[in-house]
Amino acid sequence: MGVFDHAEFDKHESLHFINDASSGLRAIIAIHSTTLGPAAGGCRYWSYATDADALTDALRLSRGMTYKNAVAELPFGGGKAVILADEAAPKTPELLTAFALAVDSLGGRYVTAEDVGMSVDDMRHVQQQTQYVSGLPQSGDNAGGDPSPWTALGVFLGMQAAVKARLGKNSLDGLTVAVQGVGHVGAHLCRLLHEAGAKLLIADVNRSNLNAVNVELPVDIVAPAEILYTDADVLAPCALGNILTTATIPGIKAKVIAGAANNQLSTLEDGARLSAREILYAPDYVINAGGIISVSHEYYGGSSEDKVRADVEKIPRRLQAIFAEADKALRPTNELADEFARRLIAAGKK
Ligand code: NAD
Repeated sequence: MGVFDHAEFDKHESLHFINDASSGLRAIIAIHSTTLGPAAGGCRYWSYATDADALTDALRLSRGMTYKNAVAELPFGGGKAVILADEAAPKTPELLTAFALAVDSLGGRYVTAEDVGMSVDDMRHVQQQTQYVSGLPQSGDNAGGDPSPWTALGVFLGMQAAVKARLGKNSLDGLTVAVQGVGHVGAHLCRLLHEAGAKLLIADVNRSNLNAVNVELPVDIVAPAEILYTDADVLAPCALGNILTTATIPGIKAKVIAGAANNQLSTLEDGARLSAREILYAPDYVINAGGIISVSHEYYGGSSEDKVRADVEKIPRRLQAIFAEADKALRPTNELADEFARRLIAAGKK
C-alpha cells in the first residue's frame, strides 16, 4: 500500500500509525496542515473492510478538516484520527487511554473530538490523559459539549439558504427532506426540520437510532438502499461519505443536497456531475462546520453559547456567496469552495 503516492495524499504534514498491543488499539492520526493552527478534527471509530480503507479515510477526512476550519475562519489547521474498530479489540477504557496517550504524544499538533462512533463520554475519558481534546461536557452557558446539535443547526440554516437559491422558497415548510442517517447529527436535524414544517423521510442501518426518531417525530421510514432516490425536494446525507458517485448521481431526484456527512462526493468530478443535473450541492465542509465552531470556542475557552450561535449563523452567508459565484461562473460549488479554502490557507502562510 503506497502512502506518499496515495491518490488521497495531499502533502499531509505527518501521518501517525498507532499500534498498542495490550489494548488492541490500531489507529491512524493524519495531520494534514498546521498552517492556521493546531490540526483539529474528530476521531472516528469505525470497522473498515481493509487497512487501506482506513488510511484513505484518514487522508481525505484530515484534508477536509483543513478546508473546513479555514472556511469557517477558525484558528485551526486540519487533522483527523481513525480508530480501526475490531471485534477482537472493542472500545474499552484501555483502548481509549492508549488513543489519548497517542494524541498527547503529538504535543498539541493534533486536537481531537468526537466523530462517528465516539461519544462525549469517550472524550471525557480521553481528557484524563491529554489536554488536546475538545467536545467535553460543559456547565452553564459555557461554549462546548457535544458538537452535533451545532452541526445540525448549521446544516439546517445552510439548507434554508440552498432551498432559497435553488427552489426560490423562503421556508422549508411543506418541503420533503430525505435524511440518510439519523445518528447524533441526523436526529437533531430531523427535530429542526420538523419544527420548520418539513416532511421527513428517514433511513438508517441502525434499528435503534431509526426507532428513536420514529417514536419521537412523524416520519416515513425508507430502506437504506432507497433513501438517495426518493421524490424528496432535499437530500440530507448525514451518515458516511462517498455516497455521491457516478453510480448514484443519475438516480437522485432531489434538487438540493445539504447534509452533514463529510466527503459526500466520491471524486471532485462528481460535483460537476451534480451541477450538470442542476442539483445544487452545498459543499459538505462548509455546511457542516457548526460542530467544529463549537469545538474551537470550547478549546480556546472564555466563550459562550451565544458566541457559538453567532458564528454558526455565518454558515448560510458563506454558502450564499459560493452559490452566487457558482451561478455566475457556471461552475460546480465544490470547486469554488475548494478555491476559497485554498486562498484562505495561502493568505495564512507566514
Ligand atoms: P453517528 O454515528 O452518530 O450517526 C451516523 C448514522 O448513520 C448512524 O445512525 C449510522 O447507523 C447511520 N448510517 C451509517 N451507514 C448508513 C447507511 N448506509 N444508510 C443509512 N444510515 C447509515 O454520526 P454523526 O456524529 O451523526 O455524524 C454523521 C455524519 O456527519 C458523519 O459523516 C460525520 O463525519 C459528519 N459530521 C458530524 C459532525 C458532528 O458534530 N457529529 C460534524 C461534522 C460532520
